[in-house]
Formats: sequence, structure tokens, C-alpha cells
Amino acid sequence: MTIKTQLRVMVTGGAGFIGSHLCARLLNDGHDVLCVDNYYTGRRANIAPLLNNPRFEAMRHDVTFPLFVEVDRIFNLACPASPVHYQFDPVQTTKTSVHGAINVLGLAKRTHARVLQASTSEVYGDPEVHPQREDYRGSVNTIGPRACYDEGKRCAETLFFDYHRQHGLEIKVARIFNTYGPRMLPNDGRVVSNFIVQALAGEDITIYGDGQQTRSFCFVDDLVDGLIRLMDSPADITGPMNLGNPHEITILELAERVIAMTGSSSRLIRKPLPADDPVRRCPDIGFAERTLGWRPQVPLEQGLDKAIGYFRSLMAG
Ligand code: NAD
Ligand code: UDP
Ligand code: UDP
Repeated sequence: MTIKTQLRVMVTGGAGFIGSHLCARLLNDGHDVLCVDNYYTGRRANIAPLLNNPRFEAMRHDVTFPLFVEVDRIFNLACPASPVHYQFDPVQTTKTSVHGAINVLGLAKRTHARVLQASTSEVYGDPEVHPQREDYRGSVNTIGPRACYDEGKRCAETLFFDYHRQHGLEIKVARIFNTYGPRMLPNDGRVVSNFIVQALAGEDITIYGDGQQTRSFCFVDDLVDGLIRLMDSPADITGPMNLGNPHEITILELAERVIAMTGSSSRLIRKPLPADDPVRRCPDIGFAERTLGWRPQVPLEQGLDKAIGYFRSLMAG
């Protein structure tokens, strides 16, 4: 029998899409959870079901400013993740990643907390290596419109490893690949939410470019499980570690699948491909499989079904 230890866990970005699922899971595992969020892309509705739990606390705070609290563990998720949102105020995006990392690392240093960074497959940029392994160093356009996010996250990784080497912090770096599920914002701009909302509303489905670009979509519950396993792993496992679903499909295939599953009469229309849009993306998850025994369990069909159900009820209400 394993005895679970009750820890004080801080989740920055806890009112966002992934963060709110993570908070719920941590509470379920018996921990005290402090959600820190400035509600930039997060919503109080995402954490509303948690508010009557006495072990849950929500704090409105911008991670670019210092924060003094006492915690045992930190999941640093604060950062807009959709290209539409992170490019809306790109300077703030870089500040959130870089100043946010410095502040949570300073906090972790003072409290001796273990700290996990939500990094991203975007550190690989438009990759020349496929599928992407952790030792691939990436191909990012440092001056392009995605750089505020990509370079901010890359610098955050650098800070994590320097605090680890210089100050002995216990760090974990997860490189998260495209994740989807309930509680994505309907106007989020990301492809899964866009396609489902368009299909349910009977609107045209917007394919950027020729739709032959690929992504690999991970259901949020699988991703949260990977984050928790990484956080719980032995101290010498720092990452960076890819977390994502290696099932790769084209954007056109995704659109066709969403149309079929919703029974929609929507048409496909073409829109220009955004600048620097990666052509292919698929994680090599061998490292996570070997060290965490982790592999996504939810097939795309099943996860899409849950996401469609969520947006259907959101649009009905
Ligand atoms: P999200 O936009 O739903 O959540 C981000 C949260 O951070 C929001 O609640 C937002 O209000 C909060 N936030 C933003 N700036 C902040 C600031 N300065 N101070 C405090 N809070 C702030 O996005 P998500 O999809 O839940 O992503 C969560 C994390 O995972 C992000 O760090 C993102 O970069 C990373 N990630 C996500 C994906 C994905 O596919 N969803 C892929 C790779 C990496
Ligand atoms: N910090 C914080 N909370 C803490 C401890 C530090 O927000 O509990 C901030 C602090 O304000 C500083 C940053 O984290 O800006 C980095 O802290 P560190 O101790 O590494 O650096 P220093 O304070 O020496 O600049
Ligand atoms: N995309 C699309 N139509 C949309 C939204 C996105 O064709 O309405 C494409 C986008 O160009 C990209 C892929 O879908 O090639 C994934 O986009 P998303 O913004 O979800 O994530 P990211 O580009 O960060 O992987």
C-alpha cells in the first residue's frame, strides 16, 4: 500500500484549460492546491466547481510580479498558449514566460519547493527532425510572430536549468505537445476548438494553408497524468521530457473527422497559412515511456467525443 503525502501545491495558470484539470486532479489526490492566475486567458468558471473545496484556494496574481507564499511544489503553467492569444500582446507573452520563470524559481529557491515548467513543442520551432526527440535543439525564427512564445519558453528552460545547476533546485521541464479537451475556450483560436465550434454552428471550417500540415493531439487527462508522474519522479529526472500523443494526423483529416462526428453540414474553406506555422509535429515519447511508464490512453475519437460534448453543452447554454 502506498501512503500519499499531502502537499501544498501551487499551480500558476491554474484557471486555464490544462491548469484547471490539473488543480482538480491534485485535489482529488489529497493535496492542498493554490491556484495563481491573472485570468488573461483563464476563466473563473473553469475553477468554479473547486471553490467549495476547503483545500482549494484561488489567488488573482500576475506571475511577472514577485509572489511570497509557502508551498512544497509548483507547476508553472501561466502563459497564454493559443497563437491568437500569445500574439495579441507579444511583449507581455515574453515577460510572462521569462519574468514569471524568474519569480517562481526565486520562490522555489526560498521555499525549497520542487518546480515544474510547462514548456512546449514550440521550442523545436518548424522542426527539421521528425518525430521530435528531446535532444533535437530546434529551428525557431527568433524574429518571427511566434518567437514571443517560443523564445520565452526557451529562455524559461534555460533559467530552470541554471537555477538547478547554480542553486541546486529540484526542477522538471515538460515539453507539452498539442493538447485538447473540455474547457478550451470556444474563441481560443486553436484548431480543435475552432473546428468543433464551427462544425456545431454550421459555419465554414477554416483550413489554414492546404491542410497537409500535421499535429499530434493529446487528450487533457492523459497530459495531466504525465505532468503528475513527471513531478513525482526521482530528483535526478529533470527532463526536458516530451509529453504528448504520438498519433499524428493532418489538419485536413482532423477537419473531416470532426465533420463526421458532429454530423455537420459545414463546408471546408481555405485561409492563408500563418507565418512560421510548423509543417509537421509529432513527439517521440520514448523517454517518458521508459522513465515514467507513461503513454497516452485516450484515442483521438474518444477524446474528440468528450470535447464535442463539452462545446455542445456550452453552446446550448
Ligand atoms: P491557457 O491559455 O488556457 O492557460 C494559461 C493560463 O495562464 C490562463 O489561465 C491565463 O489566465 C494564465 N496566465 C497567463 N498569463 C499570466 C500571468 N502573467 N500571470 C498569471 N497567470 C497568467 O493555456 P493552456 O492550454 O492551459 O496551457 C497551459 C500551459 O501549458 C501554458 O504554459 C502553455 O504554454 C503550455 N502548453 C500548452 C499546450 C496546449 O496544447 N494546450 C501545448 C504546449 C504547452
Ligand atoms: N521571489 C518571489 N518570491 C519569493 C522569492 C523570490 O517572487 O518567495 C522573486 C524575487 O522577487 C526575485 C526573483 O524571485 O525577483 C528571483 O529570486 P532570486 O532569489 O533568485 O534572486 P534575487 O532576489 O537575488 O534577485
Ligand atoms: N489551423 C487551421 N484552422 C484553424 C486553426 C488552426 O487550419 O482554424 C491550423 C494551424 O495553421 C496549424 C494547426 O492547425 O497548422 C494547429 O494550430 P493551433 O493554433 O491549434 O496550434 P499550433 O500551431 O500552436 O500547433
